[in-house]
Formats: sequence, structure tokens, C-alpha cells
Amino acid sequence: MHPHVAEPGIVTLIAIRTSAQERASSCAAELADLQPGSPISRELALRLINCSDDDLPTLLAAARAARDNFKPGVLTYSRKVFLPLTNLCRDYCGYCTFRRDPGEPGAHTMAPADVLAVARAGEQLGCTEALFSLGDKPELLFPEMRETLRHLGYKSTLHYLEAMCELVLRETTLLPHPNPGLLSAEWITRLAAVSPSMGLMLETTNAALLASGAAHDNAPDKVPAKRLRTIEEAGKQQVPFTTGLLIGIGETSEDRVETLLAIRDLHERYGHIQEVIVQNFRAKPNIPMAHVPEPSEGEMLRAVAVARLLMPNVNIQAPPNLNAPYYEELLDAGINDWGGISPLTPDYINPEKPWPHLEQLRLRTESKGFQLRQRLPVYPEFLPAVVSKSGLLSEKLQAASDREGLAKHRETRAA
Ligand code: SF4
Repeated sequence: MHPHVAEPGIVTLIAIRTSAQERASSCAAELADLQPGSPISRELALRLINCSDDDLPTLLAAARAARDNFKPGVLTYSRKVFLPLTNLCRDYCGYCTFRRDPGEPGAHTMAPADVLAVARAGEQLGCTEALFSLGDKPELLFPEMRETLRHLGYKSTLHYLEAMCELVLRETTLLPHPNPGLLSAEWITRLAAVSPSMGLMLETTNAALLASGAAHDNAPDKVPAKRLRTIEEAGKQQVPFTTGLLIGIGETSEDRVETLLAIRDLHERYGHIQEVIVQNFRAKPNIPMAHVPEPSEGEMLRAVAVARLLMPNVNIQAPPNLNAPYYEELLDAGINDWGGISPLTPDYINPEKPWPHLEQLRLRTESKGFQLRQRLPVYPEFLPAVVSKSGLLSEKLQAASDREGLAKHRETRAA
């Protein structure tokens, strides 16, 4: 080999290093030029979501700066009870441990007395949110659910949900937050009369996941266009809305950016997205996706950081139980909320991942220099519009909120 001619492999390596360094410095330069509160472009997001480990600290630092500009010094959570109104569901998502068919062990629809008992127990522990989670339209598939509803005196699962939201609102100090799946315009109006906010995970905009064998095979309610329509309708009605994406269900990193952009687009048009959840897939036995690899910590950190930079002025949440043991790192990626934490009910969606004890969460949050504050299911910036409506919902919200729009006198009570 001639001493002045590098080996071809070394030439390639130098070229790769040079182009990686150029990319890194161009990302760093663009991030350094960002105005506080300004969102990044689609193109930059697509580059950042795949950034190298060397570039990751720069990305995380930019995301932290954006979060600190948005809501400095405070991390919020919602102290909630989890009300799995029914775990019957007409969809069969490949990652779901919650759903059951009628007659399967664990199949259950809560009675009104159970709903009230759990809500009242939560009230005693300082909870302010009644999170209603349920399968999507089970009565369309299962005659057993039609019979259960007939016995309870309701025409559909949504009619029953509406009544239970109203019951909790009337009889307790808890505020309902329903997550019932796809909703028509009429049902958004009806549920908004008995709950200050509601939610539907967009999950992904990748319709290819509906294909045979993919995560949303046999899940008719997971058609992205239908979910976008529900979120848009909530926007037209100015309903504070929680949505988000799932990481690791077969989507690409580019899909993650497109999903975030679809959420951002709706928020730019209607201003109603109160919170974006970045949730990671966890493999569990007995699910069709039991052997699918879970997303890495690095993928989660990139997704959270890019979400923060695409939507610098939107609340970004990652659930701490799903990310243990690295949930503190999520603070470094720009979240400003831990989501719903229950001192009472197990997390029925991921029962094997217990919620971190609230006091432990507080200590670990404070050790990173943040104050942990309890919020209501509706975020403070969305509260005035809901309070301005008259009626029971407004009265209950005013009674539950402090001057900053956070939960009144709740954060110091023991879990
Ligand atoms: S729609 Fe929800 S409850 Fe039904 S299978 Fe999918 S994730 Fe599970």
C-alpha cells in the first residue's frame, strides 16, 4: 500500500464521519438558531428523530430548553382513579392486554355502584380525575354486551358512559375524563357536557398497520383517518383534548414524525390539543405481539424530544410506569407532565407495571430541580373556557381548581 494513499475502507470511514459530523453540526446550528417557543420544521424533525447517539445530547438540550421556556420549574401529574367501565371491545389490537371477549376470564363491565365506590375511595385519597377507559363499541360485536346494557337500562356503551360520567360528577368531587374510542360530533357534544376534557390516542398515521398480521389487524376503530376525524370534531367544538402516539407498534421513525405533525396540524387549526402522550409499546405474554422487540430508551428519548420541539407550547407527557427504570431520563427529553397517577387503582392497561409511589415520584422529580404539582384532567390553560359555561361541570371545576388552575389543596395529601 502506498504510504500516502489511505485504504478504501478508511476513506469510506472518513467520508461517513465527515458527513455525520456535517449533519450533526447543521442540526446543532439549526437548533441553536431556534427562537424560544418556535416549532421546528418537518425536515429538521425527520433528521432529528434518527440522530446519532453523538447528536442526542444536543437534541435533548434543545428539547429541555423548549420545555423550560414553556413551563419552567414545574412537572404536573393528575391524581386519578382508573375506571375500566368495560373491557369488552370490538377491536383486537395486537399489543392490548386490556380487552376481553365475553366469557373470557377477567371479562367485566362495572356496575354503577362499583363506579361510585371506586370514585369515592379515590376522593378520600385526594384524587381529582375519574379516568374512564373502555373498549370501543363492544355491543356492535357481542350480543352479551347488548344484554348487559339492556339490563342496565342503556341503549349503547356510550349512553352508559355518559350516565356514569354524570353520576361521578354529581356525587363526588372527581372530574370525569372519558377515553371511549371513536366519537361522532353528537357524542363529543354529549360527553363534553359531563366532562371537562376527553381523549383518544391517534397512535399512528400509518394505515399499513391495519394489514393482516400487523398491530391494527382486525381493529376497525384504528383507521387513522377516522381517529383524525374524531380529534378534529373535538377541535371544532373546542373540547380540550388529549391524544398521542404509540412507539414501537411497527411504525417507522418517520411515521412518528408524521403522526406528530398530524396532531400539530389539528392543534394549529383548532387550538384544542391540551396534551400529547408519547407512549412506548411494552411486550407482554399472551398478546399477539408478545415477541415484538420493545422500543429502546434512545428511540423514546428521540420521540419525546422531537415531540417537544415540534410542539414547544403543548403539554407533553410520558407515563412513568411504562418507562421504568429510565423515567427520570424523560425529564431530560422535555416532558412537562407525568400523566395520570393512581394511588388506588392498578393500571389495568399495564397491570404488571405498578405506578410509582407518588412520594417516590415527587422525590425523583424534585431531585431533578422541579416542583411536582397536581393538576386536574383539564390543563390550566384550557380551564377558563370550560368554567365559563354554566351548570354543574363549571361549578365542580371551580370548586376543584386553585388560582393557577391546578388542583386545589390536593398535592400535600398522603397517597
Ligand atoms: S381498541 Fe383499545 S381496548 Fe380495544 S383492543 Fe385496541 S387497545 Fe385494546
